[in-house]
Amino acid sequence: MLIRVAVPVPGLDLLTYLVPDPSPAPVVGARAVVPLGSRLVTGIVVEIEEGMDAGAGEINAERIKPIRQLLDAGAFIPADVVRLAQWTAEYYASGAGEAITAVLPPKTRGDRQDAHKTRRVAAITVVGSELLANLRAGREAIAPENKVTERQREALDLLAGAPAGIATAHMAGRGISADVLARLARQGLAAIRSERVDRDPFEAGALVAEDQEAGRRLSEEQETAVVRLSAFAASQAFRVALLHGVTGSGKTEVYLRLSAIVRDAGRRVLMLVPEIALTPAVAALFRQAFGERVAIQHSGLSDGERHDQWQRIRRGEVDVVVGTRSAVFAPVEKLGLIIVDEEHDGSYKQEESPRYNGRDVAIVRAQRAGALVILGSATPSMESYHHAMTGRYERVLLERRILDRPLAAVTVVDMREEYAAEGPDVVLSRALRAQIDVRLARREQALILLNRRGFATAVFCRQCAGTLDCANCSVSLVVHGEGSARRARCHYCNYSARVPPACPLCAGPYLEQTGFGTERVEAEVKKFCPSARVARLDRDSVRRKGSLDALLTRFRDGEIDVLVGTQMIAKGHDFPRVTLVGVVSADVGLGMADFRASERTFQLLTQVAGRAGRGSQPGEAIIQTIYPDHYSILLACRQDYPAFYEREIHFRKAMRYPPLVSMINTVVRGRTFTQAMDDAAGVAGRLRQADADRRDLRILGPAPAPLGKLRGEYRSQLLVKGANRKRMREALLAAIAAAPELQRRVSVDVDPISVL
Ligand code: ADP
Ligand code: ZN
Repeated sequence: MLIRVAVPVPGLDLLTYLVPDPSPAPVVGARAVVPLGSRLVTGIVVEIEEGMDAGAGEINAERIKPIRQLLDAGAFIPADVVRLAQWTAEYYASGAGEAITAVLPPKTRGDRQDAHKTRRVAAITVVGSELLANLRAGREAIAPENKVTERQREALDLLAGAPAGIATAHMAGRGISADVLARLARQGLAAIRSERVDRDPFEAGALVAEDQEAGRRLSEEQETAVVRLSAFAASQAFRVALLHGVTGSGKTEVYLRLSAIVRDAGRRVLMLVPEIALTPAVAALFRQAFGERVAIQHSGLSDGERHDQWQRIRRGEVDVVVGTRSAVFAPVEKLGLIIVDEEHDGSYKQEESPRYNGRDVAIVRAQRAGALVILGSATPSMESYHHAMTGRYERVLLERRILDRPLAAVTVVDMREEYAAEGPDVVLSRALRAQIDVRLARREQALILLNRRGFATAVFCRQCAGTLDCANCSVSLVVHGEGSARRARCHYCNYSARVPPACPLCAGPYLEQTGFGTERVEAEVKKFCPSARVARLDRDSVRRKGSLDALLTRFRDGEIDVLVGTQMIAKGHDFPRVTLVGVVSADVGLGMADFRASERTFQLLTQVAGRAGRGSQPGEAIIQTIYPDHYSILLACRQDYPAFYEREIHFRKAMRYPPLVSMINTVVRGRTFTQAMDDAAGVAGRLRQADADRRDLRILGPAPAPLGKLRGEYRSQLLVKGANRKRMREALLAAIAAAPELQRRVSVDVDPISVL
């Protein structure tokens, strides 16, 4: 008997082996230990050739090696997940090796030290206990510096009942703010400590979920949505529904109700979220609704944690799996519902091989399982909305916010006028500064977005006009830090250097920093609002594990007034006390040489404006821009998705971009610019030749990629557009295969999300 095995080795396709003793017979999904060169590796059985002759006649039987051992009598990976991996390998043109790696459970390397999170816990001190005893006994013997307010008394009462302490987030839920606790701590009546929390992936969000009332009444729109969607689910047939609900319309509640209905019908649920660290509350809400029968899968967990959860799913111990894109391969059986929350989010796309989009793999998986898919978003991707408009997907609308709360009122500040009035160095406009002050006075909170990290985005020589560039990449270095901590860093390869005192090109002494990023915005807010408690949320500020959770918790607890950050602050959060959102430069993404630039800008602005006014106080957003007339900015201000779609689809049609055509991006890397260009030209030539009779492909390039050099390698680019993805892919792969030495220097991206 012959079997084909996928081994988790990049670049390898299915390998054929002999099973000398086919009892017990191998099954698809079982693990097999096989020889590979001089080593032994464990792979997954993907195909079985019945009867020795079938394959052995054609392939030289002598060269087929026998497997060493079959590890499982049944399927270790469910057969349908193995087939899903095969589909992924084929569709996204990766090897079977890469694809099988994506479905294997994480290796168990035991506990890793880095998996902890922190939370802040307040506990009563001995002095506090004594004071409380006095108060309770009605004794007046209190030293004057220890006068306590009503709120403090309340806090002490609560704390006295929990000698080990209570999380500050929990106290906030009871109406005891961080300020009250801080005052108690200063008076020596309470102590506040930071505590490590590990192994329980739910902890961070669990605190948020506690205050949610169970079984609250759905809004009319939610009710209608649940009724329609549950009818789809009950049919047990494949269906895709786009849940298009404005920010704050209560999509999560709809997911929860649907999941419960599907669970009660005996089927299971997969819930995908773009980045779990940024939406911890979602996992917690599911945990609250489904108790122990929820598992969580994402890369922020330690390998040990992830492995445990994977095994629980495999054993059928959970009804709901919540996870990031890789969870689309979770070994769930009897799937009835897949939810893709924030389906437009770019993080569903994996930017290394296999370059799959978790949303699209989810749809294929549901199709095979006869399940319902819900794609949820306030700003759907052009692809999904297009399918909804052309009738391929059902469209379910939530047009109003919960309790009819208004969407944030958006004001645009034309920065050209601001520069004229205030000078070229303005970062925060007068309007934005004034509004931040208003929130501070009202003890409300503000989010300030700038989608660019660092302090200054370039160092520029006034004498020769040169910039300080990365030695390995074709980008300028970004300045991080101030004073002695100041360094220039590459955001692509992490190269970093001290900022030199003079220009390295012409020795000119006048080096100027230009452009600004989140660090500069943070500094400006501190400068103009000295009383504000300001923090920054971007990839630099949350490098350490657990620091992101800690920061979000502090913001939720009201220990931070103004949170400055990149797009990370725009995602899915529900902070009821945020009433102001400021966008420092709405234009950051518009300059990119990418056909999705307008779409991304519109989504980001609409999403971030959607963070304001989610509680009882109405919200306001201020958007600073130098292109106040650009349609993606104008329409984001009006939060008018349909109008944006109409405008953008027009452009995509005219330019022949997705979703109206399919596209494959190919990048060829080379040691020199010429090598990269010549090799790409070779591929393009063969491809054009293959297309000569039919002429149904559009082949653009080769051209230098927008990021012409990356990590020391030159890059050239070839775009293929067409109607038939399969034909495009096959023709392209054949054109690449004709130059075997190219294999390792080419990457193929089917349905690219970015073409930089
Ligand atoms: P979306 O994901 O659509 O932006 P959320 O699901 O975060 O919105 O819901 C917004 C807010 O409304 C949350 O605070 C949520 O708890 C609350 N909410 C949702 N449904 C209801 C309801 N039926 N009644 C009261 N509050 C609700
Ligand atoms: Zn670099």
